[in-house]
Amino acid sequence: MSYTEEVYAKVVAQNPNEPEFHQAVKEVLDSLKVVIDRNEEEYRRLSILERLVEPERIISFRVPWVDDKGTVQVNKGYRVQFNSAIGPYKGGLRFHPSVNQSILKFLGFEQIFKNSLTGLPIGGGKGGSNFDPKGKSDREVMAFCQSFMTELSKYIGADMDVPAGDIGVGGREIGYLYGQYKRIRGQYEGVLTGKGLSYGGSLIRTQATGYGLVYMLNEMVNAKNDTISGKTIIVTGSGNVAIYAVEKAQQLGGKVVAMCDSNGYIYDPAGIKLDIVKDIKEVKRGRIREYAERVEGASYTEGQGIWNIRCDIFLPCATQNELDLEGARILVANGCKYIAEGANMPTTLEATNYVMENGVVFMPGKAANAGGVATSALEMSQNSMRLSWTAEEVDQKLNRIMKDIFHKVDDASRRYGLEGNYVAGANIAGFEKVVDAMKAQGIV
Ligand code: NDP
Repeated sequence: MSYTEEVYAKVVAQNPNEPEFHQAVKEVLDSLKVVIDRNEEEYRRLSILERLVEPERIISFRVPWVDDKGTVQVNKGYRVQFNSAIGPYKGGLRFHPSVNQSILKFLGFEQIFKNSLTGLPIGGGKGGSNFDPKGKSDREVMAFCQSFMTELSKYIGADMDVPAGDIGVGGREIGYLYGQYKRIRGQYEGVLTGKGLSYGGSLIRTQATGYGLVYMLNEMVNAKNDTISGKTIIVTGSGNVAIYAVEKAQQLGGKVVAMCDSNGYIYDPAGIKLDIVKDIKEVKRGRIREYAERVEGASYTEGQGIWNIRCDIFLPCATQNELDLEGARILVANGCKYIAEGANMPTTLEATNYVMENGVVFMPGKAANAGGVATSALEMSQNSMRLSWTAEEVDQKLNRIMKDIFHKVDDASRRYGLEGNYVAGANIAGFEKVVDAMKAQGIV
């Protein structure tokens, strides 16, 4: 058995009931095999991979809060501090009923490589709760956030661990979390990113993941002497990442025809009217089906199956494992040429292998959606310097970072004779910097 296979077998044996974590580790270790094989003896002696797959620390805690009926509710809270070799832990908080330790470990593990790819000094972490903000009043969301932060505040800090948003954690939640941190710790510091502009947030942070995804897509398409302009595009989800991916894709001349939420998908052959989606999702916190009720010529289909619509470009921006092998086969059969992941691990391993074997240019989330965390790191810089950059300055930096990531990923894939395999390229390029720092810092 190779060293990477041995470590993967140990991960499965020692972390039972964590399928998402196993999946993320497998994808990374499989692509690192070519790197490890060149110097296996040293990696084994230093137990580099065993250290890489074991979080430095996992904090798990009780979150009690009182709902509007006066009943006490209890949720689970977590923070996975995975790897701080290259900087303070950095990664979002997810509030969703599906949240468990496996999902947060997969996200924290991915985050190590993603953060490394940005070129910025940030380590990997992730956290969250099985709390569901959907259908809760503002007061209930505030009560939950305050209780969550009362415990989390003991373990985070501007130079220690800097959480941000993720699914279910947007501007409203970050505001309540920040207020409670300040109240408990008495420090006005950059301990969270994704903050509002009136209290230390960065311009373009809200748009960053979606915009960054499309900047990356632009590089992928240009490398094939092609353009986004005129292409038919599907963007899954209708949350933060999806909405701003649509906005930038439309600015670059792409025609986005479909979006979804967890209940179903909309198809608008004339092109999605984003102001209506924003009104439904950002203002009214409604359901995507309302779009078809408001826009003539648009249709709504309940359930999964958005990939049945023909497209040139597919941008999955909802959640993990949303695109499986069956969906991938349909996309390929209908002529889809590019897939860039806005969400984290939205494509199953089988589907990823299938699309890559069938000529689709595929960019994994850890490279394609790194614009969010990169701009979070820019927010940290502005907080430390006590100044704010203009939207143009931040957007230019974001664009440059996404171009750099593309070239790092492309270069790493070529160096190992895997040209065009951006999954391998992203894992290898992310790994190289982290492992260098881990070696330099000794056995910690
Ligand atoms: P949001 O909560 O803003 O939006 C998530 C969207 O996905 C919602 O429209 C949601 O619909 C939809 N969705 C969730 N589950 C499913 C499902 N099973 N099928 C179809 N649609 C579904 O989250 P974000 O946009 O912030 O995050 C989306 C993804 O991007 C996540 O994987 C996240 O980890 C990743 N990401 C986010 C970053 C950020 O900066 N926000 C940075 C990097 C990655 P519904 O309302 O019905 O739940």
